[in-house]
Amino acid sequence: MKEITPEDFEELVAQGIDRIPKKFLDKIDNVAVMIADEPTTEELASVGISKDDGETLLGLYEGVSETDGGPYHREFPDRITIFRRPIIAEARRPQDVPEIVAETVRHEIAHHFGLSDEEIEENGNKKAPR
Ligand SMILES: [Zn+2]
Repeated sequence: MKEITPEDFEELVAQGIDRIPKKFLDKIDNVAVMIADEPTTEELASVGISKDDGETLLGLYEGVSETDGGPYHREFPDRITIFRRPIIAEARRPQDVPEIVAETVRHEIAHHFGLSDEEIEENGNKKAPR
């Protein structure tokens, strides 16, 4: 794979979702998965990152997780945003992008199931996309 176009990236996110085991996919309830070029200052601030830190986000989960909400507080869908530019920057080679996308999707979906960053890392995530 040479350069990753926005269309390629969309396809990679779809593939990342397809890689989630079916038993989890079946239980995903009301989650919108979106793609953005990069996180906004507000999105960074929501997870305690300041733009000057040189840190960024690969993905963001926003919503009421399965454990703290419950079906009666679900007027709005949970939202997962996957950030295209930071992921491409994170990959040292274009061929690494699919794996980082899949890992980020998996990570954010784990948040939907109520796992914290610590719990996700314990489950074998080497690098937390937050
Ligand atoms: Zn996280």
